[in-house]
Amino acid sequence: MSRVLTTCIYCGVGCNLYLRVRNGRVVGVLPSRSGPGEGKLCIKGWCAHEFVHSPQRLTKPLIRDSRGFNEVGWDEAIKLVAGRFLAIKEQYGSNSLAVLSSAKCTNEENYVLQKFTRAVLGTNNIDHCARLCHASTIVGLGTAFGSGAMTNSIAEIEEADVIFVIGSNTTEQHPLIARRILRAIRERGTKLIVADPRSIDLADFAEIYLQHKLGTDVSLINGMMNLILSEDLQDSEFIERRTRNFEAVKKVVERVPPEHAEKITGVPAEKISKAARLYAKAKRASIVYSMGITQHTTGTDNVLALANLAMMTGNVGKKGTGVNPLRGHNNVQGACDVGALPNVFPGYQGVTDCQAREKMQRVWNIAELDDKVGLTQLEMINSAYAGDLKALYVVGENPVVSHPDTGHVRESLRTLEFLVVQDIFLSETAKLANVVLPAASFAEKDGTFTSTERRVQRIRKAIEPIGHSKEDWRITGEIAERMGYKGLIYSSAEEIMDEIASVTPIYGGISWDRLEDSGLQWPCWDRSHPGTQFLHEAEFFSGLGNFVPVDFKPPAEEPDEEYPMMLTTGRLSFLFHTSTMTAKSPTLNIQVPEGYVEINPEDAKRLGIGEGERVRVKSRRGEIEIKPFVTPIVPQGTIFIPFHFVESPANALTNPAPDPKSKIPELKVCAVKVERVEQVASL
Ligand code: SF4
Repeated sequence: MSRVLTTCIYCGVGCNLYLRVRNGRVVGVLPSRSGPGEGKLCIKGWCAHEFVHSPQRLTKPLIRDSRGFNEVGWDEAIKLVAGRFLAIKEQYGSNSLAVLSSAKCTNEENYVLQKFTRAVLGTNNIDHCARLCHASTIVGLGTAFGSGAMTNSIAEIEEADVIFVIGSNTTEQHPLIARRILRAIRERGTKLIVADPRSIDLADFAEIYLQHKLGTDVSLINGMMNLILSEDLQDSEFIERRTRNFEAVKKVVERVPPEHAEKITGVPAEKISKAARLYAKAKRASIVYSMGITQHTTGTDNVLALANLAMMTGNVGKKGTGVNPLRGHNNVQGACDVGALPNVFPGYQGVTDCQAREKMQRVWNIAELDDKVGLTQLEMINSAYAGDLKALYVVGENPVVSHPDTGHVRESLRTLEFLVVQDIFLSETAKLANVVLPAASFAEKDGTFTSTERRVQRIRKAIEPIGHSKEDWRITGEIAERMGYKGLIYSSAEEIMDEIASVTPIYGGISWDRLEDSGLQWPCWDRSHPGTQFLHEAEFFSGLGNFVPVDFKPPAEEPDEEYPMMLTTGRLSFLFHTSTMTAKSPTLNIQVPEGYVEINPEDAKRLGIGEGERVRVKSRRGEIEIKPFVTPIVPQGTIFIPFHFVESPANALTNPAPDPKSKIPELKVCAVKVERVEQVASL
């Protein structure tokens, strides 16, 4: 038995773990004391090995003909993919092709994919699931602070005197961060404020719990800022010295006294005031948020409001403070960092910036890179539906389950001339592909992930790739070579990281030998730089912090006669995202074998719904049948459905309406109708 130190494949906390290996098989997991997990793992981490040897793993390339999929050799598959990509590029132009990269893949693989998209396909049409989770964070915090990343470190959350958790079901989504919050409460007397439409577990530990209505975050936060200003609790010295445009925010929040915010949010004004005082009077206050804030048509506004609150009270640029978005996937931060986005090269260097373009052209040995911003994920789907996008290369993503309005997604993908999916399992998206390429899992390759706290950490190969599967970077490199481009042939993933460091200033000092202990947090400018624990200490990335006034806007859909209830969606601690991996894990899959909808007891009574029955949930986009779970966790008029389940897909119902600034869809709120399946009595 040997053990190999690596990083968890699931959430963005980035816990370190050992894979236990016997006779070429991964047979178990042990936590490592290094990294943010401190020798602990949540249940997903403990089961991170269970899907690796699943009999459902893809082991050979597949090509579809009129009868279905046929197993083929690599040469035939690569030849077909490269040939079709070249032909489509020739016939319709570069912008008729697009790539969906993956927050599950390594930094090195995401770098290769964005380079392939830009240097070989000739387009900036590359995006990944950050568009569905934290695109609004990137835009919002980027506008306010000059950087869209978590300002502080995970360990520092415990150093805060007050922690304000909003839109984050931390115990379910980021359990090893929730553990630190609870320890801070228990051991340091840290006070907790929780704001969430559902009375999540953390609410039981909160000094103040604000149960605001779905989609009213801006009003709640503006109400808090109004109280802070009216009682002169702001940090005037910080505002004066470190920020600009404060007066504009003051003007807007002056119009939102807590009594006004009460009318919109449903939270008593007294509670809003108490929360504002507690937050503003703390020596060190930390904001923790996640997709309850970001997945709205006002996602960027929500993030900007939180940035305003933190700057107004001087809670940025210091230990134990900050605005801390918790990233969902293990490497969604890294995929953004290395340029798997349609508007930026690695290191957030704009594709429209001619100096950045010239640098990339030189390093990548390309005469001319596209200077136009490419398509986002949702735009790719819509473009396919319209017949403009002809080919899509999907790596490690499952948009048929993860995107809003999944019926439209399926139709759009069927419209494509050529769909290639590269994955470790035959996902719902892969089932629609013309060609499926089998990839190696995290246990079968070397590379790095960047966790939610900007920590670049190693993953290490424990076993050989299963069957004929290969590392994603190798497959993409072979397609590129067949298309005539030699600049994606690497001898190792380490060589790719060296190239990343050479073109990405925030990763400038990162190399694998420096990551051996517990990784490095960017920005890490050069080989002598120790990495950065918290951002914006002496000045913001953008120089001065930028206050941006935001007014409350309602969600794109509100309840009406036809669809009188509100749906919100989220994750469970036992399952992950579209369940591509966790559904293959026997220990995890058995915990919650079936999807369900949470319904408030009063709503259930009115509808005559009891446990053991089935209900039909309808929205303007689709309908699903699902088991009800009657619980006061959700307020009256609101239902909650975990989105992991293929058989009862919540995203068949959700609203693709985008935030105009970040183009993130409004996955967190839409109007629905609930009916009993037997006696169709509607609410
Ligand atoms: Fe893995 Fe996240 Fe659980 Fe840590 S908290 S073990 S990174 S899923």
